[in-house]
Amino acid sequence: MIVLKKTFGNSLKKAKSMSPKKVIEKIKNSGLTGRGGAGFPTGLKWEFTRKASGEKYLICNADEGEPGTFKDKFIIQKNPETLVEGILIGCYALSAKKAYIYLRGEYFYLKKYLQRAIAKLKAEKKIKIISGAGAYICGEETSIMNSIEGSRGIPRHKPPYPAQKGLWQNPTCINNVETLTNVALLFNKNWNKNYRLFSISGNVANPGVFEEKLGITMDKLIKKAKPKGKIKAISFGAAGGIIPWNKSIILNKERIGKTGATLGSCTIIVISEKHCIVNFCKNITEFFVHESCGKCTPCREGNYRLVQLLNKITDGRASKADIRLLEDISYFIRDASFCALGQSSTTHLITALKYFKKEFQRKCR
Ligand code: SF4
Repeated sequence: MIVLKKTFGNSLKKAKSMSPKKVIEKIKNSGLTGRGGAGFPTGLKWEFTRKASGEKYLICNADEGEPGTFKDKFIIQKNPETLVEGILIGCYALSAKKAYIYLRGEYFYLKKYLQRAIAKLKAEKKIKIISGAGAYICGEETSIMNSIEGSRGIPRHKPPYPAQKGLWQNPTCINNVETLTNVALLFNKNWNKNYRLFSISGNVANPGVFEEKLGITMDKLIKKAKPKGKIKAISFGAAGGIIPWNKSIILNKERIGKTGATLGSCTIIVISEKHCIVNFCKNITEFFVHESCGKCTPCREGNYRLVQLLNKITDGRASKADIRLLEDISYFIRDASFCALGQSSTTHLITALKYFKKEFQRKCR
């Protein structure tokens, strides 16, 4: 696997032999984009932060909390040194005063891997690990900053963007674990921007993290995880949407985008014919009710109403008008929520109602 290659400090040495401006140029030319889901060009993000005035900070977002996503955990366990090297390259290119690794609260047992890697690269003074308290919303870039500053982890208004006013109102760059690992790897030969890590789980006998090139067909990828039984649908994680099984569909951002779902952080949950889409959607909606930070009404109240409606449907008490209401509220939450968590919290319902409406209707009285 490319992502498991060790760089042994050589990438940092190579980066330091270049000017920070040249390093940023190299990242820009590489075509590396964010691997946390949004896919923003990494070099451009670095350039915005470097050009802003004030003390610079770098945050490594290790708050991986979406159900079905576990690729960052895999990197932290298997190749933490390369990740730390990527962070140090970022600090050099941005002239950052300090870097923070914001580690998901439930990943407390991974702290030792990061500590060992930081010590190995003698970066104790430069990099600090901060453990979250278990809130999914702290994976959102402005909530992370509030949490690091010691405030409640809720999103801030954008603009100003973190590259202008981030931590303590200073320019801050936030990159995901996989992105920063690839920063170190791209200084090596044979790096290819199209290789991605896919977290595959659900109705499979061999769940895990698989590295494959974007453009692979669904069939070829899923075979590696050994599906159990006949596949009915694929979910791209809690926020990515659900589409019917199509063995020849190509996995890239554009093709999946056309279905109404999003490839995001390359999470794939396999759903077999035995499983009910309505119950699956109810599980995801309950997750969002639990994780909504409560700041805005559409997400806080809307998702709560959706669970009530889904309970009515699964109990056989709903009418077809309730399904229309379910759809209306889903679109409303998507369009009116304050942050990306709320805006993507109903993608699963919108896509499930597009492709599997009959399953919902069959449960009505
Ligand atoms: S959409 Fe609103 S309530 Fe939901 S997490 Fe974001 S700010 Fe909080």
